[in-house]
Amino acid sequence: MTPSRAAGCAALALLVGCDLDLIELPSLPSLPTVPSRPSLPTVPSWPTVPALPSGRSVHLALGVPTDASSQDELVLVKPQYVVSYNRFRNDPNWVAWRLTAADLGTVGRTQRTFSPDPQLPDGVYRVHHRDYAGSGYDHGHLCPSAERTATFDDNAATFLTTNIVPQRHAINAGAWESLERWSVEKAREGWDLFIVAGGRWDPSCATDSSPLGAVPGDACPSVGRSPDPARRVAIPISTWKVIVLVPRGHGLDAVTAGTPVVAVEMPNEAGSGHDWERYAVSVDELEARTGYDFLNLVAGAVQQRIEAAAWRGGDVAR
Ligand code: MN
Ligand code: MN
Repeated sequence: MTPSRAAGCAALALLVGCDLDLIELPSLPSLPTVPSRPSLPTVPSWPTVPALPSGRSVHLALGVPTDASSQDELVLVKPQYVVSYNRFRNDPNWVAWRLTAADLGTVGRTQRTFSPDPQLPDGVYRVHHRDYAGSGYDHGHLCPSAERTATFDDNAATFLTTNIVPQRHAINAGAWESLERWSVEKAREGWDLFIVAGGRWDPSCATDSSPLGAVPGDACPSVGRSPDPARRVAIPISTWKVIVLVPRGHGLDAVTAGTPVVAVEMPNEAGSGHDWERYAVSVDELEARTGYDFLNLVAGAVQQRIEAAAWRGGDVAR
């Protein structure tokens, strides 16, 4: 990121006590929902989405992933993570969370199936577990169950369909899971991890082609049996993740040019194996591919340094 863009992003981030869609709302008040055409991507009634009472979520302490188009981002702030939900693709653009040792407890997987997210405003389709049935794709957690095991509620929150994308089993149970295990290990060793994960979609799945956003056309690969494209879940071509490690109890204050950063992008396909390090990329590469600026609350010069190099393997020293 150039420092000037980064400054703009930081300014935007200050606004994200509210969500990005709430900012747009004033321009849309005259659009009524049309009851006779329920399958249209109607403009939802936003007031059911609470703005942050004050300040930002801890999960966004290093920045808010920001791209050129916010109309396809419905930001839902939860105690356990923050999700930027794409109401046109019916899956998350990204999910951000902090992982610390206090998140690791004894609660196992609280659910066998995934639930619709009650925090979604009226008028936004709520994906059901069964929408993935028979698709050949896993319900792929972004914020993983294993990183939210301190309480029942924390774990249950990871089983919302706003926190998943269709993911090939080989990657979900392969390299993607290996990196999840590595993350848990690092949290136990005394690191706090600031994590953002998301998907990247084929251009045919674009949802930012109009000022109000758009449902992807039939060319976009999706799961779900509904003939209505507005009720299908777009399949990402890859899933990616950015992890910044700081000593326990710290956040932005501890991010320096020497801070360990891991970024990966894993193709959503079979045959991945378990070695996550082979998918390492620099944050800069990931920013170029996804269009998002990450870590935009980190000072410009530091941000430039830590985003430039891909993870080279080995261990992190505290
Ligand atoms: Mn998984
Ligand atoms: Mn950046």
